[in-house]
Formats: sequence, structure tokens, C-alpha cells
Amino acid sequence: MVRSTQQPVQSDVTTSAWTVADSVRLYDLESWGEPYFGVNARGHVLVQPRGDRGGSIDLVELVRGLQGRNLSLPMLIRFDDILEDRLERLHSAFERAIAQYDYPGRYQGVFPVKCNQQRHLVEQLIESGRRWHFGLEAGSKAELLIALSLLDDPEALLICNGYKDRRYVETAILARQLGRQPVVVIEQADEVERIIEASRDLGKAPLIGLRAKLASRGSGRWGSSVGDRAKFGLSVPDLVRTVTCLAEAGLLDALRLLHFHIGSQIADIAVLKDALQEAGQIYVELMRLGAPMGYLDVGGGLGVDYDGSRTATAASTNYSLQNYANDVVATVRDCCTPHGLPVPTLVSESGRAIASHCSLLVFDVLGCTSVPAAVPEVAPQEAVILRNLRETLAGLELDPAEASPAHLQEAWNDAIKFRDDALSAFRLGYLSLTERACAEQLTWACAQRIREHSASLGDESRPEELRQLDQVLASTYYGNLSIFRSAPDTWAIDQLFPVMPIHRLDERPTRLGQFADLTCDSDGKLARFVNKGGAKDLLELHDMRPGEPYWIGLFLGGAYQEVMGNLHNLFGCTNSVHIRLATGGAYQVDHVVKGDSTSDVLEAVEHDPEALLERLRLAGETAIASGQLQISEARRLIDHVESSLRQTTYLQS
Ligand SMILES: *Cc1c(COP(=O)(O)O)cnc(C)c1O
Repeated sequence: MVRSTQQPVQSDVTTSAWTVADSVRLYDLESWGEPYFGVNARGHVLVQPRGDRGGSIDLVELVRGLQGRNLSLPMLIRFDDILEDRLERLHSAFERAIAQYDYPGRYQGVFPVKCNQQRHLVEQLIESGRRWHFGLEAGSKAELLIALSLLDDPEALLICNGYKDRRYVETAILARQLGRQPVVVIEQADEVERIIEASRDLGKAPLIGLRAKLASRGSGRWGSSVGDRAKFGLSVPDLVRTVTCLAEAGLLDALRLLHFHIGSQIADIAVLKDALQEAGQIYVELMRLGAPMGYLDVGGGLGVDYDGSRTATAASTNYSLQNYANDVVATVRDCCTPHGLPVPTLVSESGRAIASHCSLLVFDVLGCTSVPAAVPEVAPQEAVILRNLRETLAGLELDPAEASPAHLQEAWNDAIKFRDDALSAFRLGYLSLTERACAEQLTWACAQRIREHSASLGDESRPEELRQLDQVLASTYYGNLSIFRSAPDTWAIDQLFPVMPIHRLDERPTRLGQFADLTCDSDGKLARFVNKGGAKDLLELHDMRPGEPYWIGLFLGGAYQEVMGNLHNLFGCTNSVHIRLATGGAYQVDHVVKGDSTSDVLEAVEHDPEALLERLRLAGETAIASGQLQISEARRLIDHVESSLRQTTYLQS
């Protein structure tokens, strides 16, 4: 009899006890998902795009509805209400801080376009941000063009960062005549000359900002963007020299803004406080040197708590949005008021904190492999090695209470020894291929039994070697996605994103697994998961059911992932949609952006899809002529190629 040992022996007893609350706990949903993601009674992920202000969408129903509209997975779903809610939260945090600390000034933020340049998203931000005169930050000429043409609010700021040539500077100066408010931020010492010359030629000056290179320590991955060796910003001697140059050119009146940026995803609020104090003092000194000033731009870096642990670790932050706003407001006030100087309008360039939550990638699992641990039937006159393995396995059919660490360890040592014996015997020709297969299956079956028993021991009394059995026995789930396209930072900088099934959350997940993507790259995997402040290598997942889809969500990926994603193995952009909450739990599909077709990605690398097709057609004709291919077969081949060219680059289920 072949008996599967995939399921834990105790599964019958425990399945009935599993509830959606267990899933919420298991996937840490309350820590990273609040207030936007939850689970409903059907075991589906529930999206509350307006946070706690009411209204929700069943994510599984949404995906089904989108599939009904002929949009296939993988799919990026953007919730415009979440974007709006993030803006709302940012502004209310600053409003509260300003009230609490009696700050005699205001807050006026901008969105750094580099974080997500997608048109619908930028348009939505401008629309939702209009009531606060929310602006944009550009870091290149292309981004400047986006900002100039989309940002039509004359009171909103347009912060111009990045390296600037003469054309960039002139564009910004002339844009003031269009009723825009560009602030040209001097990042490099030599830019001041370009600005002075351009202003002289055009007879008009831009609003000018200075980016300071702070001496305060940085932290985390982007820590090196501050300090004396940072790539950007003016050192203190450069700041002083730049002010002198501006004064001599009669442009000191245009100097309105001081900017600093201490790197993305600031994990530790203490780092920000130091930087704020230093920048606050520089601001005061610039006023003393005669600059009118008016704006202090604290840059980006407001972090996202990806793992929900609220700690100063890479995937988290040890502060809330409100703590951040309080510190900015209080520190800047304390720098200015003792000197009797007016406080600046506070500007921040928070990208990640605004854009991360709104988009969510859903992908389907194509299949799943695991170790072949079915117990094979006993053959007549079995080799002694196989009998030994069977005995070891039989010795593991014991009451959980009898399973001591020592007994389990001994059984594992035996199993490994017998497996090695089997391998040696096979090499020497004493064991057939079938017998070797049987030996391997029995070894895996032992490993599974041992893991099941040792799981009930609790982590402390579990010997290290047995703990590794989780890894050894883990399943690989094949995801219909490319992480290089959709979550490049998981690969590039080990970024952690919450990942979990979006349905079956009322069922106990019985397996541990990792995801492999579609690329032929061994790095193409998702193998680090949120785990209460740390990270774990394996995620609890469900058994695949034949004929039933298994859908996984990758959350909080709205910042940086889209534009950093690449065409590795020619997997293109996925389909994406913009969803708005409508009344009564309904939703509205605002925009559909079709993913790249195979034609699109071929053209991206200079191939001509028509020419490729034509070549195949000719090859087909030759094969028909020589009798190797029938006309109907040639037609079928060409049909397949033509359909593939039109379709997305992902697998069709
Ligand atoms: C990248 C960048 C930002 C955005 O940083 P986040 O961490 O996404 O908030 C803001 N300002 C400048 C100058 C940047 O380079």
C-alpha cells in the first residue's frame, strides 16, 4: 500500500480548530496590515481602502471580477482610496503636531516622483492633495517634465533636485512664468554658477534652495547618503561660499529653502532628531547671513513598518507617523524661537510612506513540489538496507509522548546512515535504480515523521539538526511572477515585503514553503518572510488542490518596485488596475493598464516581432516542402506564436 505522509498525523484533530483569527496571527496581519488589510469570515483577505473610515472589498471577489474582465494574473492592484488615506494621515499628523506644539507655521509636503512615476498614481496624488496644495519633487529632467505638466496648482511646490544642466535650470526658471512654483535646489557646488548665468540671461531668477550635506550619522542601508562623503549636498564651507556667490550676483533674495535628505526608510528616530537639529541650526544661520528663507525641507525617509514589529530594524521603524511629525515640528520650533526668528514652512518629501500601501500584487501558484515521501509497498525479498529503513520508520510510529529528543535524533542518524549505505550500494551496482528510489522515499518518510514529532517538542528542546528538517522538507511553490519585475528589492537589497495567501485563511496551512518565480535564475525566489520583527525562511502555506487556484498577495510594494523592476528573461510589466471603493461594498475599476505583451518586450531589446514571425513562417514553408511538417501543423505553430506575441509574458492558466 502506498501511503502519503504529506499530512501531519494529527491533522484530523487540529483542522477543525483553525479559524481566521489564527491566520491573522500567523501572518502578523494586524501588525503590518492595519488599517487596510484584514480577513473576513470566508477566509478571504479583506481590503479596507479607507482604513477605519468604513467600506471594504473582498480581495478574492475582486480578483475573480477582474479575471471575468479578461485580466489575467499576475496583477498589480492599486487602491486609490489607500493613496488618499495615506495623504490624509500624513497631513493630519502634521496638523496635530503643529497644534500641539503651537507651531506658528504650516506644513506643505511634496511627493518624490522617483518613488512611483506611474501617471495615474501621480495624477491621483495631485487630485487628492489639492486641498493641502500638495506638490511634487523631481530628481531628473524627465521627472521635471512630469511634474511641470501635471502639477497645475499654483500654490503647490515643485522641488527640483538631482543633477542639473543649463537646460534643466532654464526650464525651471521659465516655468515660474507658467504660474508654477519650482524651487531649484543646489546640490553640487558648481550648480550655483549655472543658476547665476541662466538667471542673468533670462533676466529672471528661480526660487533657490540649498541641499546641505549633514555631518550627523546616517543609519541603515541609505546611511551613506549623509555625512562628509555623501554623494549629494553642499558641505558647510560650500554652503557659505554659495551664499556669498548668490549675494554677489544679487540673487540672495531668491534663496528660500534649505533641504536635507538622510536616506530612505529611516529605522531609528534618533537619527532623524540629530539631523533635524543640525539642519535647524543651519537654517537659522542662513537667515542670519541675510537670506529670506521660508522653507525647511526635511527630505524623505519616513519609514514603513513592513514587518509590523515597531523596532529600529531594516524592515521596520521605531516610531509612528505621529512621532515623526512631532519631532520635525518640535525640533524646528526649538531652533528658531530662541533667536526670535520666524519658523519655516515645513516641507517633507515622503515617498515610501505615501505610496507603499496602495498597491498589491496578486499572483497565482502554478504548482508545488515537495520531497517524495510516500511509503512504497514492500517488495518480495527486499534488500537489507531497505528493511533497515523500514524498521527505522516503524520505530517512529509512536505516541507523541514517547518521542524524546534523543530518540528522534537517533532515528534521524540511522536514517541518514542507511541512506548513505544505499547510495554506496547503488554506486557499486548492488542496488537497482528502483531500490534506490525506494530508499530515498523511506528516508524522506522518516524525516517527515521525525519533524512531526519534534514540532511538538517546542523550539528549546529541539536539537539543532532536527530544526533543520523544516528546511530540508520544505516545499517549493512555483509562482506565476518574476521577482525581478515585480519585487526587485527582495533580490537587490533583501527587502522584506509581507506575503501571504489571500484565501483559504479559514483552513490550517499544513506545509512550509518558499516561492520560486518563472525566471531561470536561482535568485528568482521569495524566501524571506515577515516574522514578528525578524524574518523567517519558510512560510506556512496550504496544500494545493487539483483544479483549484491558489492565490498569493505581495503587499506594501507601491514604492520603487515598479520602476526598478527589469526585463530579466523578458518578463514584462504585469496587468494593473486602479480600484476605487463604491457604495455598498462595491468597487469601481477606474483604469486598466494592460501588461506588456511578448511583442512589447521583444521590441524593448530591438527585435522585430513581425520579422521573427516571418522567419518562422519561411522555415515552416521549407519544412512543408521537404515533407517534414504538415500544413495544419505549420498553421498551428504560427497560431501559437501569434497568440503569444499578443499576450502577456506570464503563463496563462
Ligand atoms: C529618494 C528621495 C526621497 C524619497 O525618500 P522616501 O524614503 O521614499 O521617503 C526624497 N527626497 C530625496 C532627495 C530623495 O532622493
